[in-house]
Amino acid sequence: MISKKMVDAINAQIQAELYSAYLYLSMSADCEAKNLKGFASWLKIQYQEETSHAMKLIAYLQERGGGVELRTIDAPPTCFKSHMEIFEQVLAHEKHVTALINTLYEQAVDAKDFATQIFLQWFVNEQVEEVATASAILERIKMLGDKGSAILYLDKELGKRGA
Ligand code: MG
Repeated sequence: MISKKMVDAINAQIQAELYSAYLYLSMSADCEAKNLKGFASWLKIQYQEETSHAMKLIAYLQERGGGVELRTIDAPPTCFKSHMEIFEQVLAHEKHVTALINTLYEQAVDAKDFATQIFLQWFVNEQVEEVATASAILERIKMLGDKGSAILYLDKELGKRGA
């Protein structure tokens, strides 16, 4: 049986993943309002991914017989200064989520909860990818600068991301 403490920590992670989804959806809406369709599309796919992370955690709790407890999700910011600021925030947020996943994993190790450790390995790998992707996009934004042509080029590139 999964411990109450572990169930509680996973419920907190479900909340964090849903907040991530909320944040990226808000960023997507801001880009959409600024007619940056490619940025908006990339961020909307990111929103869907975060929702699927929460769903994975929910399914795991259900499999282990732990109670799912959906918590309050804070409102994300609604206005962003620029596409650069958005990706600075995406990167900072993914680093934050990585720290949360690492703490969760550490808790599973301390509790000798082997099933949860194995389950969380997918999230550990996923965070490596999330941070790498956000870093790469931010680097390209910085490299290209904020001329209109550079933004349009990036918008087109990001719009190519498939779901
Ligand atoms: Mg996530």
